[in-house]
Amino acid sequence: MEKRIYNFSAGPAVLPEEVLLEAQKDLYALPGVGMSILEISHRSKTFDKIHQGAEEGIRKLLGVPDNYSIFFLQGGATLQFSMVPLNLMTVNKKADYIVTGVWSKKAVKEAKRVGTVNIAASTEEGGFKRIPTQAELKLDPTADYVHFTSNNTIYGTEWKTEPEVGNVPLVCDASSDFMHKKLDVSKYALIYAGAQKNLGPSGVTVVIIRKDLLERSSDDLHTYLNYKIHAENNSLYNTPTVFGIYIINLVTKWLLNMGGLDEMYKRNVEKAKILYDCIDNSNGYYIGHAEKDSRSLMNVTFNLRTPELEKKLIEEATAAGFDGLKGHRSVGGLRASIYNAFPKKGVEDLVAFMEDFRKRNP
Ligand SMILES: *Cc1c(COP(=O)(O)O)cnc(C)c1O
Repeated sequence: MEKRIYNFSAGPAVLPEEVLLEAQKDLYALPGVGMSILEISHRSKTFDKIHQGAEEGIRKLLGVPDNYSIFFLQGGATLQFSMVPLNLMTVNKKADYIVTGVWSKKAVKEAKRVGTVNIAASTEEGGFKRIPTQAELKLDPTADYVHFTSNNTIYGTEWKTEPEVGNVPLVCDASSDFMHKKLDVSKYALIYAGAQKNLGPSGVTVVIIRKDLLERSSDDLHTYLNYKIHAENNSLYNTPTVFGIYIINLVTKWLLNMGGLDEMYKRNVEKAKILYDCIDNSNGYYIGHAEKDSRSLMNVTFNLRTPELEKKLIEEATAAGFDGLKGHRSVGGLRASIYNAFPKKGVEDLVAFMEDFRKRNP
């Protein structure tokens, strides 16, 4: 079998090896079915069980209450930038957006097509290096919802806890830290996440929505864009991403076997600490992008003193089997994405490489 390397890509990203090996087996024929997962009907009993398993896995791991629906949709988190305002900005036709990066800005762009957007806070000044404080938020108590991005994949910043928004429904783009720890789902009206960062392959997006909000969706909406339709049809209004949901099912089983999200979180904290310690103990050789109390456990972003030195490190790292370390094109520098499935050993090996590189290139 082909050897695997360390994949630090921000997304699509690393998946658990156990999941890949199981999928590899099922790709020829599912046990007792005689057809591959790529070939079965989305209305078959076999898929029914897989679909149910994926939903139950998420419910169990996150403790999703019964008054929430879970959908598996298409169009990525990007389509949710439109679906959220189309379905929810229907009462007072205005919403609060907290802007902490490029993805929040893209969400704002689509929301503005639907109604009035109030920027409750933005940390763009200074280069999105931090999460705003609660005191900075200028919230409108009559907004239809408040939208925030829990983890900023490009900048490497992350909310430690959700903003306090009173009785206004809270909507979260959790694409890049979904299921990295347990949440109090009851604080949220809607959580959405493209699967390809921390949960599965690209092409499937999870939406968790409190059921009473479904009443906000107008029958005039285009059918696929209407959350109520997906609730009524249990994500099967059209052909869903069968393979994506299948992988999510396997990933949730992997997380449950490991001990659940509290255990996963403990490991994520440990892994991130190893890398941040390397940055902080380098006498300024490695320069962390995010402010310390805003640092992400998922995407570790940093710079070296010159772009040339960064390029050299990336080239040598790639040759040594550390892939995907180049920062997002909009900010440059380096980014190590160390999602749930990324092994601790890979972080330790990268740190050893970085310490050696620093000695060789003082
Ligand atoms: C990757 C990402 C997106 C975009 O996801 P698509 O699935 O490509 O639409 C949106 N928000 C965040 C926070 C992301 O990390």
